[in-house]
Formats: sequence, C-alpha cells, structure tokens
Amino acid sequence: MAEFACKFGHKSYRANQLLRWIYKDYVSHFDEMSDIAKDFRQTLLSQAAVVTPEIKVDHLSDDGTRKWLLDVGASNSIEMVFIPEDKRGTLCISSQVGCTLECTFCATGRQGFNRNLSSGEIIGQLWLANHKLLSDNQNYNEKPITNVVMMGMGEPLTNYKNLVHALEMMLDDHMFGLSRRRVTVSTSGLVPAIDDLREDCPVSLAVSLHAPNDLLRNVLVPINKKYPIKALISACNRYIEKAPRDFITFEYVMLSGVNDSLDQAKELIKIAQQVPCKFNLIPFNPFPNSGYLCSANKEIKQFKQVLMDANIITTVRKTRGDDIDAACGQLAGQVNDKTKRTLKLKAAHD
Ligand code: SAH
Ligand code: SF4
Repeated sequence: MAEFACKFGHKSYRANQLLRWIYKDYVSHFDEMSDIAKDFRQTLLSQAAVVTPEIKVDHLSDDGTRKWLLDVGASNSIEMVFIPEDKRGTLCISSQVGCTLECTFCATGRQGFNRNLSSGEIIGQLWLANHKLLSDNQNYNEKPITNVVMMGMGEPLTNYKNLVHALEMMLDDHMFGLSRRRVTVSTSGLVPAIDDLREDCPVSLAVSLHAPNDLLRNVLVPINKKYPIKALISACNRYIEKAPRDFITFEYVMLSGVNDSLDQAKELIKIAQQVPCKFNLIPFNPFPNSGYLCSANKEIKQFKQVLMDANIITTVRKTRGDDIDAACGQLAGQVNDKTKRTLKLKAAHD
C-alpha cells in the first residue's frame, strides 16, 4: 500500500490511513474515506477499487451457521461458511476452485480443478464475511470472526504463494490482526510445502490423515503415494518446532466399514505416539454417488474411546448447517462433477 501511494506521488503514511478505512471500518468506497486528502482520494478513484468475490447465495441455518456461495467470475463458484460458537466465530474459507488431489470421499475432489484463487480472493472472503456480519447484526461490538480455517474448497498448500500472502494479511495488525493460533491451514499432507510453511508463516496446522496405514491412505488420499505417512509424521514433528501450538490436529473422516474399526483405531495409536497431536473425528458427509457411508454414532464413540484410553485427546466434529448443505465436504454443493473416477462410478451405477 505504501508503495502504491508513493508510485502516484503521495506520502507513504497515507497507506496506513487507507488500511484503517478498509480493514477496521470496512469502508470500500473511497468517497466515504473522509479524512483522506482529496488528491489521494482522486488517485484512488481513478486507479483502484476494493473488490471482493460476489455473493450469489446467502443461507442461514437453524443453528446459526451461515453459508455463502460466492461468484469468482467465469461461472466459477466457491463457498465459505461462518460457524458461530459461544466464545468464538470461525470462518471456513476456500483456497481454490476445485482441487487437483482427488481424495475419494471429497465432493471438491470430485469436481476436478478449475483454478487457484488469488491472495485477494482468499482474503476477500474474510473481509466480506466480517463486513456482512457486522452490517447485518449491529450487536457485534467487535469483529465477529475470531478464527479462520482453510478447510473450504481446495488444497491450500498447492496454492502456496497466494496462501502465504493471504495468511500474512490475516495476521497483520494493520489488517485483520488475528493471532497465529487462531488461523489454521488444513492440508492433505504435502510434505515439502509443510516445511516451507514452517519457515514462511507458521500458523496452526491440521493434517487430513483419514487412515492408519499407507495401504488404505493410498486409496483415500492418493497424494499419500508421493508422501507416505512416515514422511508426513516427520514433517509434522519439524513443523511443531515453529508452530504456535504444541500439537498437530489430525482430521479423520469416519467412513463406515472402511477406516472405522477398533483395530484401525489401535493402529492409529501407534502413529499418534510419534508426534504430539490431537484427533478430530469428522462424521462423513455423504453426497450423490460418493460410494461411502458415514459410520454409525456408536462406532464413532467407540473409536474415540480407544484413542482416549491411550491418552490421545479426541473430539468428534459437530455437524453444523446440515439443513443448508454447509456441512464439511459439501462445500462444492451441486457443482459439476468432472473427474474421471466419478464418470467411471456413474457408468458402474448405470
Ligand atoms: N484440502 C485440505 C482442506 C480442505 S478439506 C485437506 O484436505 O485437508 C477440509 C477437511 O474436510 C479435510 O479434512 C477433508 O478431508 C474433509 N472432507 C472432505 N470431504 C469430506 C466429506 N465428504 N465428509 C467429511 N469430511 C470431508
Ligand atoms: Fe482436495 Fe482436501 Fe478434498 Fe482432498 S480432501 S480432494 S485435498 S479438498
């Protein structure tokens, strides 16, 4: 911003004024930025614009979860979800339109890959959600979003440069000022990029494990063939040295008869003992032709107990926003289903 101001012959300190208007007051029209010198405002009007993705659909669930479908041009849509809780508000945002990685149980993976989001489109989701929530509900006395999770569409670490730039803006005190602990990147396990993130911008890390051994993980999370569990655990241990939390969160989707047996829970303990971690069990959210079913509640409880008995802190993710398809893994919604695997599945069904 300072560079931008200087480029057009204005003093660099004006950048901070501008940042305050945009990121503290959520003003996007330069005309309304009353204490900014007229000549700078003129430059802004002719050279710049505050642009965010556009809201296409805005859904409010009975439990307060709010889902927005956002238009990012050329018929591309992404989704973001706001999950209010007692003492925090979490925003789940997207990093890509689609995903290249094709995890077999994931609706986004089935969609195929369209494109990376720019850093502006990533941070624009946070700006837009804060702005919307503040303007719709005057009761908020501060920013409603306290936590950000990169758990929407896409694999954040395959859009690395734009991700890191967006993370820096989330953390910057002149911008969103979130603490590193409250920003979480979720990854399917790209080992070299985990190492890069450790150096460039270590925020909280969640790793999508989903299987207790390579044989099964190769199927569910195909990137495992390139970066198997052993390499992934080593990367997690390296990451912890610089992470804002002293544990890694392992996400584990509960797929009936696939990865939810008590023997598999016991196998998982061996992995968990190699790295400081917590487990978050995610009930699978089914979608058409997924080929999977969610484990029964009883099975999930027993699976959790095996881990807890081994002193591994384990939570089960509450399913929120089910009535509006905002549940985890359904972010892609009714998008076109483009991957070869699904075409094959469809053929099998027909
Ligand atoms: N690409 C990243 C982040 C986005 S997905 C990753 O894979 O970690 C966020 C989480 O939702 C991941 O743990 C992912 O495995 C999980 N997920 C995907 N599809 C799901 C589904 N249908 N039901 C439940 N969880 C799902
Ligand atoms: Fe991509 Fe994550 Fe879905 Fe795998 S689970 S296909 S990495 S979005």
